[in-house]
Order: sequence, then C-alpha cells, then structure tokens
Amino acid sequence: MRPNCLYLVVPCYNEEELLLITADKLKEKMTRLMNEGKISADSKVLFVNDGSKDRTWELIHSVYKKDKLFGGLSFSRNYGHQSAILAGMLTAREKADMVITIDADLQQDIEALDDFIACYQDGCEIVYGVRNSRNTDGVFKKESAGLFYKLMNLMGCEVITNHADYRLMSKKALDALSEYKEVNLFLRGLIPQMGFKSDIVYFDVKARELGQSKYTLKKMINLAMNGITSMSTVPLKLIGFLGIIMCVFGGCVMISALFDWIRGVTVQGWTTNVVLLCLIGGMIMLSQWIVGEYVGKIYMEVKERPRYIIEAFVLDEGCTEGDEAVSDEGAV
Ligand code: UDP
Ligand code: MG
Repeated sequence: MRPNCLYLVVPCYNEEELLLITADKLKEKMTRLMNEGKISADSKVLFVNDGSKDRTWELIHSVYKKDKLFGGLSFSRNYGHQSAILAGMLTAREKADMVITIDADLQQDIEALDDFIACYQDGCEIVYGVRNSRNTDGVFKKESAGLFYKLMNLMGCEVITNHADYRLMSKKALDALSEYKEVNLFLRGLIPQMGFKSDIVYFDVKARELGQSKYTLKKMINLAMNGITSMSTVPLKLIGFLGIIMCVFGGCVMISALFDWIRGVTVQGWTTNVVLLCLIGGMIMLSQWIVGEYVGKIYMEVKERPRYIIEAFVLDEGCTEGDEAVSDEGAV
C-alpha cells in the first residue's frame, strides 16, 4: 500500500527566533516518518506567515529555497491564528491525503504525529490532539482556559476540553470544511460539529523555548467571544430570561407599592426608584451589547469579504511564487 501524503500546517506570527529550530526539528521528524514508510516522500511542511512584522517570511523563504520539504504562504496582514490554519489546511487539501496543524513553537509534542497517522490509517477522518496537563501554563492561562471550556459547554457548544488546534483532518473532512463559508470562524467548535469518524490522541505540552506567546490577552478574549457568538445563541435567550425575571420582580414591587398607597402609607420611595432605575438601565445596556455583538457578526458575514488575503505562496518547483494578491477563493 502506498504511504499517505501528509502536509503539516504551521501558523507563524513573529516567530523569527524559533523558525529555523522548528524547521530542523520538523525535517528530522518528517524524514523519520518517510523512512519508516508512514508517510509518502512528497509530504511537506507548509508554514503560514500570518502577517509577521519580523523576519519570519524571509526565513520561511530561505528554508524553502534550501529544502523542497518546506513550502510557505504569506498573508498580506495579520489575520489571526484561526485564519492562518484555515488557509494552510485549505491550500494543503488539494495535494495531501491528511493535514495536521501544529504551532510553530512546537510546544505540542511532535512525537504524537505517529499516533495521529495511526488513527488516520484506522479510518478516522479527524483526530483531535488533547493535552495531558496544563502544567506549563501560568495560573492566569490555566484558570481562564478552564473557565472558557466550562462557559462554552454551558452555552451548548460542543468543544473538546484541552484540545487546541493540534489536529489531523483527512482530505474528505477538509473538503467538507471548505463548504463552510462563514467569516467568523471558530474551528474548535465547528469541526467537532461536522461529525465523521474521529479519535483523540493525548500529548504532553512543553514550555515555549524562545520568544513570547503571540496570543495576547486581547487575542484570547476575541477568540473566546468569537467562539461563543459564532457557535451559540444562548446569550440572546438569556436576555429573554432576564427580562422575565425583571418583569416578575417589577410586578411584585408594583403590587407592594399599590398596597402601601391603599393603606395610606406615604412611602418616600426614592431609594427604590434609584435602585430599580440603575438595575433596569444596566440590564438594558448589557442586553444591547449582547445583541450588538450578534448584529456586528451578521454585518461582517453579509459583506462576504475574503477571510484572508494570500500575498505570496511558495511550494515545490512547479509552484509559482505569487506577487499578486489572491483571496481564499483562488489561493491555490
Ligand atoms: N499565531 C498566529 N497568529 C497570531 C497569533 C499566533 O499565527 O495572530 C501562531 C503562533 O505563531 C503560534 C501559534 O499561533 O504558532 C500559537 O501561538 P502561541 O504559541 O503564541 O500561543 P500559546 O501557545 O501561548 O497559546
Ligand atoms: Mg505556544
């Protein structure tokens, strides 16, 4: 049986300190997998430069020039981790039987690649990498991640706890993913919803060797917000629920006030008024914000803008090195 063609997709944002080290490690691992007959000789490592401001793209280009194992895509600007892996996967699906996404800092154990491939050979179309522990994370990241997964499950989103984006997808699964045209993409929620035969591979997480986390607090909050609002409408339903509670509460206050009036008790009432005013005002504003989040998402979706713009693409000898900008529709 012919070994399957694997494409490793590696998103990179300002990873100049690590890129060459990562490329060396991936080459060693890919060569070993090829020699063991687990993957075909035309398998590749595809770096996606997510609009880095440092020398990341130059370095990707230099490893591509030296070794045809490597290829690269470059975005016209920073579109974010989710868009980078999507672009890499959709580009790779044209050529590969299976695609695995992995972070450029290789915090995720590359030795788990063998298990991913074994699951694929057993007939799985999607294989999720799940981290064994969060010991390498700081207290804030650990707690916020825990809260995020709890919140997502509460909102009815099917996310796999402690699965980031270390994942294998077969060509069949990627063809299905390419049918999803939404701009606000939350892959960790979307992919488990797609079905297909899937499995989990557990792996250890290492500390980042060099450089700092590229997931700033702002990016993490955006991801979490996008995750909830693109996968669930529960927050909108909560507004209705809050409204009912406020109506019941308001009704009770009204009855009590009427009784006081009938009994001729003169109620000062100022505190009650102010408290109710603040409470109701706050709730209305909060509700407006939640509705606004969804309206904003709809606004972005109806414009149908490209999800990313690929400015340059290098892969193997036959491939062109594009200077032209192409959208995700015509990326490859
Ligand atoms: N990344 C990206 N675009 C971004 C932020 C991050 O492509 O806007 C990449 C980054 O280069 C890395 C991966 O996403 O390959 C995960 O980022 P990082 O390791 O900084 O996140 P952490 O492990 O701290 O969650
Ligand atoms: Mg990392």
